[in-house]
Amino acid sequence: MNKPVLLTVDDDPEVLNAIERDLRHHFRADYRVVKASSGTQALETVRQLLQRGAQVALFLVDERMPHMTGTQFLVEAIKIYPEARRVLLTAYADTETAIVAINQVGLDHYLLKPWEPPTVRLYPVLEDLLSEWFARARPAFDGIRVAGTALSPASFAVKDFLASNQVPYQWLDMEDDATVRELLSGASGGLARIPMVFFPDGTTLVQPSIRELADKVGLQTRAQKPFYDLIVVGGGPAGLAGALYGASEGLRTILVEQSAPGGQAGTSSNIENYLGFPGGVTGADLARRAATQAKRFGAEILAAQEAVEIRREDPYRKVILSDGSELTGYALLIAPGMEVRRLEAHGIEPLLGAGVFYGAALSEAATYRGRDVVVVGGANSAGQGAMFFSRYARKVTILVRGPDLSAGMSSYLVDRIREEPNVEVLVNARVVAARGDGRLESVTVVDGVSGESRELAVAAMFIFIGTAPRTGLCGDLVMRDSQGFVLTGRDAMTDGHRPAGWTAPRDPYLFETNVPGIFCAGDARHGSGKRVAAAVGEGSATVSMVHQYLHTV
Ligand SMILES: Cc1cc2nc3c(=O)[nH]c(=O)nc-3n(C[C@H](O)[C@H](O)[C@H](O)COP(=O)(O)OP(=O)(O)OC[C@H]3O[C@@H](n4cnc5c(N)ncnc54)[C@H](O)[C@@H]3O)c2cc1C
Repeated sequence: MNKPVLLTVDDDPEVLNAIERDLRHHFRADYRVVKASSGTQALETVRQLLQRGAQVALFLVDERMPHMTGTQFLVEAIKIYPEARRVLLTAYADTETAIVAINQVGLDHYLLKPWEPPTVRLYPVLEDLLSEWFARARPAFDGIRVAGTALSPASFAVKDFLASNQVPYQWLDMEDDATVRELLSGASGGLARIPMVFFPDGTTLVQPSIRELADKVGLQTRAQKPFYDLIVVGGGPAGLAGALYGASEGLRTILVEQSAPGGQAGTSSNIENYLGFPGGVTGADLARRAATQAKRFGAEILAAQEAVEIRREDPYRKVILSDGSELTGYALLIAPGMEVRRLEAHGIEPLLGAGVFYGAALSEAATYRGRDVVVVGGANSAGQGAMFFSRYARKVTILVRGPDLSAGMSSYLVDRIREEPNVEVLVNARVVAARGDGRLESVTVVDGVSGESRELAVAAMFIFIGTAPRTGLCGDLVMRDSQGFVLTGRDAMTDGHRPAGWTAPRDPYLFETNVPGIFCAGDARHGSGKRVAAAVGEGSATVSMVHQYLHTV
């Protein structure tokens, strides 16, 4: 943890060195002494300190300086560090100015030069002021800080990426805090270029891409080996299980994830039906444990890298990534899971990230504390989302298209929802429009039976209306059903015949596609279980088939 700063400013180099020396001598165990030789330079220093997340405990400033007086400096500096104690160094003749400054900048004290001996005329005064500051100071945050506005989709994307990769950060909202506006306007690009991400090493990323962010926070984004036995696409439960078992059984294994390990499961606030967790487990916790376990066995996990194409170049299988690089291996497991369906309602697109969210958007919950929100959807994911947001929101309204919540939701969740006093369920409810000026303000809901329409004033809408397989990368190479689910095993055969282009002297294995050595597991697979446990089972079971395949190449 960085020590709080004592900033001293004087244009006279001799006086500046003397005060710096005396401050260091007495306070260096608990504070860092920083000096500046003019008001302008000191303000620059103050802005840099803010960007680094440092705390400033004291300004000790000469009053009589050219260009900017001590008082003028303090007027600006306390906008940035309002809690810092303020002391002017004055000559006897400036006593009047110092008295005026008491009102103007809330001056705590003025010291007459010279301050000899410091043990009598300097240290006792400053100790007193610093103990006062210390009693009120909030501990400095020593980690990554993200500054922006809750209503900016780009700010949301950065927060969401960090949160889903379990990278701790502090969120600074420029709408709530003048210090944050000061921080942003002092940084390159100013207020117009949000979000900005400030790192403890003093560096800043302005409107970073997700890949830049991933690199900076130390996530792996590039492959380390030229060749792999097993390449896994997708870091949900199926892919993580495949990577974990592959690596643990000695295969050179790499997993490619476009966002963060965890997949849909990673967005679940509580998975209650996964074996071995009687009290439930958050998706984030399960993902963190699985990713750590897979890495411990030697699997590489690439984050923020999308697989955009897969190729067959016998005997190799290749994966082309979004940055143009490619991975080469013998076997490929595709486990891309599902992506959320888009809600067809007027006015939604411009409000995405500004009150309208697909999925649970767990990182946003605190933003909507004490506000009214709606959750759209009638399946388990919507129920879990509603239960989660009910801890923060004043009221959660679940909008279900069907006549009854129990049609698509597990009974344990329906019971929980009924017991929750701040959760209401509206059935036969169809969202037709979202309105708001820069942020969501209301949604229009039509009753499917009576045809009546009503306007609900809400701050956020979380949409969970189902999913579709994310299998676009299969192209024409891997066979899919009419809905886009990947066909494997017997389903990849046509009327009992092996698939066209099939070269192996056997039928496809259970989770093998129409291309030998390309497997599919989890939700994206035709006929899969659509549960965490099912995905984990399929991902791990695939590895034994991969071994059998590897014996033949
Ligand atoms: C909110 C919610 C709550 C749920 N709760 C439960 C529950 O309580 N119990 C239960 O059993 N099930 C639950 N489920 C269902 C469960 O999460 C899924 O069945 C499971 O996650 C499927 O795992 P998967 O690995 O097949 O796919 P996914 O979890 O969808 O993971 C696929 C991963 O692949 C990545 N990906 C996709 N395409 C690419 C690409 N081209 N390149 C790189 N990466 C790619 C995605 O980013 C994603 O991370 C829930 C689902 C949701 C959405």
